[in-house]
Amino acid sequence: MQKKQLALAALFTALLLLFAVPLRVPFRAPFPCAAAERAERAECADAASLPEGAPTKEKRIYLTFDDGPSTVVTGRVLDTLRREGVKATFFIVSDRVPGREEVLRRIVREGHTVGVHSASHDYSAIYASDEALLSDVAACAECIRRVTGVTARCYRFPGGGGARREQQTALLEGLGYRVVRWNAVCGDEEVRGADAETLVEMSIRTAGKRNTVVLLLHDSAPHKATAEALPAIIAHFRARGYAFCAY
Ligand SMILES: [Zn+2]
Repeated sequence: MQKKQLALAALFTALLLLFAVPLRVPFRAPFPCAAAERAERAECADAASLPEGAPTKEKRIYLTFDDGPSTVVTGRVLDTLRREGVKATFFIVSDRVPGREEVLRRIVREGHTVGVHSASHDYSAIYASDEALLSDVAACAECIRRVTGVTARCYRFPGGGGARREQQTALLEGLGYRVVRWNAVCGDEEVRGADAETLVEMSIRTAGKRNTVVLLLHDSAPHKATAEALPAIIAHFRARGYAFCAY
């Protein structure tokens, strides 16, 4: 009887080793990742943990897209980012997701970060009370989770925030969100009808000489010029030694 138990134990151990060893292959990143890119991503992770505006020696730019997903503009933005090997952050408006689920999934599939922007993007409703804001955030986060399986960890206030921005920042941080502002704009909301050239110029001008640039762009349907400007924006900052980072 004891011999039988020993034999069974030996068999069990052998099976365990047989199956456990192949599982110990190195973890593979979800997308191809060269050593240089891995180094850049590690660097970016450090930058992302810095408080907003903290001085750094390395030059880093965060391309942040608000108000999508849209079909054409988000698609064109993603095409450019893929071609250039650049990762970005997309702050989603979940009421715009129905019918565009595949665009949202593509953002995640291609290694970009998705954050919560809003469900409705209706300022008067969102900023009516703290409860209204939190339920808007929860609805958007739930949509992202349902469509992509991702739990969003970043948040951007629609319109930059309401009268209680500071208190609400603390509330959201208490829920585990990193609240992301911006320190440069491409001008696609500020300058009505701006063409691609204007958007490139404004990105450069508002970024100034900062080492850490968080650039605000929009990928909702009216912003075709933003998608058009993106290759030149990337080329400019790349030529000046900036690493492209996502939150
Ligand atoms: Zn917005």
